[in-house]
Amino acid sequence: MLLRAVDYGERDRVATLFTRSHGRLSAFAPGARGSRRRFVAAFEPFALIRVELVRGRGELWRLRDATVSRAFGAVLRDLDRMAAASAALEIVRESVPEGATDPEVLDEVIALFEAIDRGELPRQTLVGFALRACAHLGHAPRLDACATCGRPRPRKKPAFFDGARGGVVCQSCGGGPIVLGAATLDRMQRTLDGEIVDWPAEPLAEAARVLVDHLQAQVGKELPCVGWLTR
Ligand SMILES: [Zn+2]
Repeated sequence: MLLRAVDYGERDRVATLFTRSHGRLSAFAPGARGSRRRFVAAFEPFALIRVELVRGRGELWRLRDATVSRAFGAVLRDLDRMAAASAALEIVRESVPEGATDPEVLDEVIALFEAIDRGELPRQTLVGFALRACAHLGHAPRLDACATCGRPRPRKKPAFFDGARGGVVCQSCGGGPIVLGAATLDRMQRTLDGEIVDWPAEPLAEAARVLVDHLQAQVGKELPCVGWLTR
């Protein structure tokens, strides 16, 4: 799938793709701009694309062929749907290392596209995706114990959260900027454990804030698409 498209000169483009066999990579698409555009399929947003690539110079691949193998047309029909799908792609683009194969994360993105395409709520779907993607990528927020001292978190009580320290932080360790209710912590933990949970408004808003904070701390920069979750 397409993560980013950059124009290159008058005639060409470079596509950043997330592929099943070679992970995240950049591919040069000669003739993708201009009047007789080639490789149109490779620049289809929110679609599964089949691409044929050859090794180019250095890290750059070269596109030989591209066809759309599956489109998720309903994603494009609504701004919130598009925002959620864009945020998922931004998470992949910024947190999957170049060249790292990550079929589980790819399958999570496909599952998110499918869910949004069939009309499931975009924010709820993205919160579940973001938590599972963090888990697959090895930086799930720590929720069961203090991220600093490791003391187990008391059950059924609110807790402080600090994205910069990677999870909940107990009071002796100074707490954190966000307070999470027990219902939110419980839903986030169950999601990380692989359960599909419902997200009423309040836990959803709290989890959204935490995830924006956590993901931005993980990648060390602002994530404008992910930030949509809290707007
Ligand atoms: Zn602590």
